[in-house]
Amino acid sequence: MSGSGRKRSRRAGAPSPDRRGHRVAVMLPYPFPGPFDYRVPDALEPRPGDIVLVPLNRRHEIGVVWDEPDGDPVPESRLKPIEAILDAPAMGAPMRRFVDWVAAYTLSPPGEVMAMALRINALRPDAQPAGWRRAEPLPELRLTEPRRRVLAALAAAEPRGGAELMRQAGVGTAVVRGLADAGAIVPAALSAAPPYPAPDPAHPGPELTAEQQGAAKALRRAVAARQFLVTLLDGVTGSGKTEVYFEAIAECLAQGRQALVLLPEIALSAQWLERFARRFGVAPAVWHSELGSRVRRTAWRAVAGGSARVVVGARSALFLPFPDLGLVVVDEEHETAFKQEDGVVYHARDMAVVRARLSAAPAVLVSATPSLETVANVDAGRYRRITLTRRHGGARLPEVAAIDLRKTPPERGRFLAPPLLTAIRESFARGEQAMLFLNRRGYAPLTLCRHCGHRMQCQNCTAWLVEHRLRGQLQCHHCGHAEPIPPACPICGAEHSLVPVGPGVERITEEAAIEFPEARRLVMASDTMPGPAAAAEAARAIGAREVDLIIGTQIVAKGWHFPHLTVVGVVDADLGLAGGDLRAAERTVQLLHQVGGRAGRAEAPGKVLLQTFGPEHPVMQALVAGDLAAFMQREADSRRPGNWPPFGRLAALIVSAETAAAADAAARDLGRAAPHGAGIAVLGPAPAPLAILRGRHRRRLLLKTRRDIAVQPLLRAWLAEVEVPRSVRVDVDVDPVSFL
Ligand code: ADP
Ligand code: ZN
Repeated sequence: MSGSGRKRSRRAGAPSPDRRGHRVAVMLPYPFPGPFDYRVPDALEPRPGDIVLVPLNRRHEIGVVWDEPDGDPVPESRLKPIEAILDAPAMGAPMRRFVDWVAAYTLSPPGEVMAMALRINALRPDAQPAGWRRAEPLPELRLTEPRRRVLAALAAAEPRGGAELMRQAGVGTAVVRGLADAGAIVPAALSAAPPYPAPDPAHPGPELTAEQQGAAKALRRAVAARQFLVTLLDGVTGSGKTEVYFEAIAECLAQGRQALVLLPEIALSAQWLERFARRFGVAPAVWHSELGSRVRRTAWRAVAGGSARVVVGARSALFLPFPDLGLVVVDEEHETAFKQEDGVVYHARDMAVVRARLSAAPAVLVSATPSLETVANVDAGRYRRITLTRRHGGARLPEVAAIDLRKTPPERGRFLAPPLLTAIRESFARGEQAMLFLNRRGYAPLTLCRHCGHRMQCQNCTAWLVEHRLRGQLQCHHCGHAEPIPPACPICGAEHSLVPVGPGVERITEEAAIEFPEARRLVMASDTMPGPAAAAEAARAIGAREVDLIIGTQIVAKGWHFPHLTVVGVVDADLGLAGGDLRAAERTVQLLHQVGGRAGRAEAPGKVLLQTFGPEHPVMQALVAGDLAAFMQREADSRRPGNWPPFGRLAALIVSAETAAAADAAARDLGRAAPHGAGIAVLGPAPAPLAILRGRHRRRLLLKTRRDIAVQPLLRAWLAEVEVPRSVRVDVDVDPVSFL
């Protein structure tokens, strides 16, 4: 990296004697324990938040001027000077506080957190020409059909971006490059039209019902007050929560501030974006990890410059440089997808609340099935709650029933029970749509040898390999390992002896094809529907009734509004209840309620059928009775006595090493140094459920404290006490969501 940013001269001035010996702290985007001190040369006057270029180990690095350097100064003579202040938007105080806060809370190096906020790429000047135009006059050249299409696409005077041009002309890079080499097209700057036209708060939206209006008014008032306040917006599926928080966004726009909406699975936000455009006239800025680098850079700059007024994004959008954030919305707040599991391990819902507080803005948490954490915050008076009680347009909530698989089992070797098949057949007869939900990708979760009983296991993980028949592969869903399905058992050598055990969506699709050969089927799973475009097309096809039967994993559960869908069948309602996860029951209720909520959202009533071996289980009872509040109450009562979250705090240490012995030794040392005291307990060390992951042996320890005891100081002291060898990793997970 070299001094690529333009230097700022605005604040450079004549040297003044009283500033000699001046120093500043600079945060660098690396996992150092804190910022480094640098000397300020006389010609510069950096202020906190400024983006600067500094020397580090004979390289030039981009960093951010942090706040006051803290004690223990390095001798003046050894300090290196700041080289330049870059002409880039400074990182505001709320963002710097946020970085510090997240780092302290998650026990992450602050530089690593800051790196998420400082998109270095966005600070570099554009390397390539932004677009192309036709050369005038055109040189002599051989005009192939693809070339002709490119030139036709450039016939208008406006230059076009390369990607757009290729898409429009239906050509690849080679054609464009060929034309450029021939001098027929030349680089041209794209017009500086703002990429994100301002959403119009006055654009007419739907007329809200009285109940919706009351909720919208309360949210509008919170935004206008320009104060931190957290509201839980809950209400049954289809009650219009989205339309209601759109009014809060409208108020935020009217106030001239920016709004951020977090969605759990941004790749699937097609319908949301459409609704936003209907309400505000234009699309919002979108932010997620799959954006191309150019779009990412444009978006980052537009947020920093304030021209992107509303951003909808995944967790990482929390770290965008909003200069004037006036509202944060977290939709489907109960979703575990908001927990970031690698790198800086943080919960985006909780950090969104912190971000709002530091920006003096209200936060709105939205869900039909709020998390116990959020409900506890409401009960404690920390959050307020607004509830929508009715589905819009008089649509009724679906009727939920359990199918007892012990009483009415599927045929041998099949997975769909007769009552479910009948209900689906009836919905087709009425000209309606049906959905089968199974939260498992692939064909079968386990493959075993009929001859010797061998089970196909991942070579890197303690996990069974999942058969993906369409790809002819066995895959590990934890490390990504894939191998062809072997023709014979690798242990006993018996041929054609490997059999699939249990269903995944592929297998259910196969069965559905036999049962309903005439139905038009669509599979929705993250591997068959990887991007937003595919999801948007699926939503369109379903809305246009080009599909009769939808078969999907958890991606069908979220937010979709399909008016003609009336029957939802849950293939294995017990699936999420296995394993010792603290929140297994809560999560199953939330997920299945959300899935069921896809049914009967318009005039035709909906029906949800849960296939289960335990209809008497409280989870099934709650779903059938539609009484989630009572279930959550009972769930709360069971967690309170043991100080389990949200009534106590948890933090996990995950020890991993190349050998089991090294992992055990380090885990034992940590176990011996564990903190103790009233209201403090340490569970473990114990082998992690995923005892080997990507070839590393893993052990877990769990720190549990009373709610009034902060875990961070305990963790810091604990980790400082134990010296682990370099080859051993200890990852800290505060407020763990996954216990694998
Ligand atoms: P939720 O987010 O609570 O599940 P949505 O906001 O998705 O509910 O609303 C469900 C459907 O009802 C959507 O298609 C939405 O556009 C429609 N809807 C909700 N409120 C109104 C209203 N007041 N007027 C017209 N359509 C509405
Ligand atoms: Zn694996």
